[in-house]
Order: sequence, then structure tokens, then C-alpha cells
Amino acid sequence: MKTKRVPRPTPERAVRILDRLEEAHPEAHCALDYRNAFELSVSTILSAQCTDQRVNLVTPVLFARFPTAALLADAALPEVEGIIRSTGFFRAKTKSIVGFARGLVERHGGVVPRDFDAMVKLPGIGRKTANVVLGHAYGMNEGVAVDTHVLRVTNRLGLAEGDDPVKVEARLMALVPRERWTRTTDLIIFHGRKVCDARRPACGRCTVFDLCGWEGRQAWASGQGKAPAAKRTGRKPPAARPKKRRRGAPPKRGR
Ligand code: SF4
Repeated sequence: MKTKRVPRPTPERAVRILDRLEEAHPEAHCALDYRNAFELSVSTILSAQCTDQRVNLVTPVLFARFPTAALLADAALPEVEGIIRSTGFFRAKTKSIVGFARGLVERHGGVVPRDFDAMVKLPGIGRKTANVVLGHAYGMNEGVAVDTHVLRVTNRLGLAEGDDPVKVEARLMALVPRERWTRTTDLIIFHGRKVCDARRPACGRCTVFDLCGWEGRQAWASGQGKAPAAKRTGRKPPAARPKKRRRGAPPKRGR
């Protein structure tokens, strides 16, 4: 019996994939709105477990009130919490962005450093955020920002393996020329959002179908793919809503 061949993750194949994605998605870009490195850092912290669209609704208010790191560093936490509440995890995110602003003021005069190692030492800043900010705000290719889309799509493509962002980033950095690292993130995230969806990948209209290593792609291309079962959250089901009272009916009395 023939065994299926998974294409090898070679630099040539990685570059061919990126060339195709560039052709298919020239509009791929960082979806967060920002005017400088400080704003992009804060927006990227806020985007954890939240959509970029939601972050973009909140940040104009936040940056109108706290336009600089110095002002955000001195902010009252409850006020910041009130502004960013709708992005979720607002207490932890408030601590992160105010802590980041304080670190920036104390160590770098309020200016985001153009240095990866200095960036990741700041509160609230991990490898992903540092790569996003240095790549987009300063045009520096210091690494490949790896989020959930990059993990999923590169695993399916057969360019990387596993769900450890650090290992996947190292693999991509070894495969892709340095000058394309930032663009790699934008293209793969965009492709993951528009085509290679987590539950329903559109393999039938995928520009890199013939270069992809995912064994499920044929089934999805022929309309026979099966979405994975929804993850169990462990939450209790919501309580049943009380029935609506008919118009004109007297209200029920409590016992
Ligand atoms: S062929 Fe399917 S699984 Fe592979 S990259 Fe395209 S959409 Fe994703």
C-alpha cells in the first residue's frame, strides 16, 4: 500500500507558498489601528483573546485620554478598566498596559526601544508583541509573530509542527528569508482568517492547495470535510429564560 507523502518543509516550498499568498492577498496587513509604536504595543496587548475590530473601537478613546506612555503610566486603574472593559480580561489587561507604560517611562524615557531583547523585558510584552511592534512600527524583521492562525496554518501546510509558538517561530525563521519575516505573519494570519478557517477551511479555493501538506484538504475541497466537534468549555448551560407573560395577563404573584 502506498503511504501518503507529506511535502518536506524546505525553504523553496516555504518561499513558493509565500509568493502565492502574496499574489492572492496583497491587501494583507496588520489589522490594528495605530499611529506609533507605543499605540501598536498597547493595541497588541489588548488584542489577546479579542478581535482586532473590537480593539480598534476602544483604542481611539483610550489614546485620546492617554496619548503618551507618561500619561498612561500615571492613570488610575479603574478609569482604564472602564475604557477597555469590552476587550475582555480587562483587569489583567489594564495591569499589563499600565505596567508596560511605566516600564517604558522608567527604562526608555517613554519611547518604545528598537531592540527585541529590551522589548521582551518590558511588562506585558512577549515575543509575539515584540515582533509585531518592531516589524510594523519600525520596519525591523526580528522574528515571525506566531498567533493561533500562524500555528494552525503552518501546521496544516506542513511548514511547522506542534503548538509551541517558540519552536514554530524558530522553524519559520529557518525557512523564510529574514526580509520576509514580518510579511510572513501578515500573509499567514490573513490566509487563516479568510481561507484556512479553523473549523471550515475553504481548501477548494485555496491558492496553495497543491503545496499544502494537510491530509484533510481533499475532503474539504470536495465538500466532504467534517468540522471538529466544538470544544467543551466546562461551563454550565445557561438557565432557561422565564416565559413571557401574555399581553393583558395578570402578573404572577410570588408565594
Ligand atoms: S489547502 Fe486547505 S488546509 Fe491547506 S492551506 Fe489551503 S485552506 Fe488551509
